[in-house]
Amino acid sequence: MNLDILKEKYFFMPDATRGAVRYLTTKQLKETGTEALVTNTLHLLIHPGPDIIQKLGGIKGMMGWDGIVFTDSGGFQVFSLIHSKKWKGKVHENGATFKSPREGNTYELTPESSIDIQMKIGSDVLVTLDDCRDTNLSRKEAEQSVERTLKWAQRCKTHFEKEYGGTAKTGKLLTSVVQGANFPELRAMCAKELVNIGFDGYNFGGYVIDSEGKLVEEEMSAVIENIPKDTIRYAMGVGKPEDILKAAEIGFNLFDTVLVTRNARHGTLYTAEGVVHIKNSEMALDIRPVDSNCNCECCINYSRAYIHHMMKNDEATALTLSTIHNLTYYQSLIKDLNSNL
Ligand SMILES: [Zn+2]
Repeated sequence: MNLDILKEKYFFMPDATRGAVRYLTTKQLKETGTEALVTNTLHLLIHPGPDIIQKLGGIKGMMGWDGIVFTDSGGFQVFSLIHSKKWKGKVHENGATFKSPREGNTYELTPESSIDIQMKIGSDVLVTLDDCRDTNLSRKEAEQSVERTLKWAQRCKTHFEKEYGGTAKTGKLLTSVVQGANFPELRAMCAKELVNIGFDGYNFGGYVIDSEGKLVEEEMSAVIENIPKDTIRYAMGVGKPEDILKAAEIGFNLFDTVLVTRNARHGTLYTAEGVVHIKNSEMALDIRPVDSNCNCECCINYSRAYIHHMMKNDEATALTLSTIHNLTYYQSLIKDLNSNL
């Protein structure tokens, strides 16, 4: 598989959190123009577990997916759950120990185990474990997070190379995460240090949106200015269509967000003319397609009124069609970006 295109083109990766994009078959997912997806290491660690996934042929074998698979390191999820006190657990020098509320088992996530899990999942692009913390960190806390993130990134790289033979043997890519909270100079320093270690990509970690809902452009620019152009530049968790365009302008080329599919399930559908709220009562007699410029299965075959009716009655088909539409809309944004390259 040629993974170098991840360094050249723009991609939007839907979140197949537990190894599925909710309400879509793999065929339907492909038909939206999706070429790469991102799965969640933490959720897959808890169920079905990396050993079972490996026995079933990896995530690609399970899904029947022949496109690109990205995994996250599990860090963002574990640390945000622990820091928000939704989960019991502890972050320490060696990683994080936590108890899953799902079945009460205790897990330990370390830089090395994160790589092992991602290898068993069978991902194409791995992400190093980072020390992700809450928003609004003090300078000192942000410095500590950067320091630990750098140490763990080095440990991940060493483990990936020693244990698996690195990219040369596996054909897989290893990317790192840039931390530094809302301090552009810390972001820049973290990026520079990661470049010194050497990775296939540099992902913008932590929070990409400030407390007012705005993209943290200054911090993002600080990262882009300090990493090579011919690498993966992943703006994790970006975002709204207008934020993707802004992040692309800054220099990022990979994006993912749960918003696109979650909004679809809540009846918020994207079009070039703005958002359509399909559950609103004025949709009940609207015979137009969701988006007259869209060629997806939803827009070619069905009216807004029909989708509205199904949504109001909790028909799963409406959720499938809405998700197909929103993903197709996002992929067409990406196609436009690529056509201007
Ligand atoms: Zn459509």
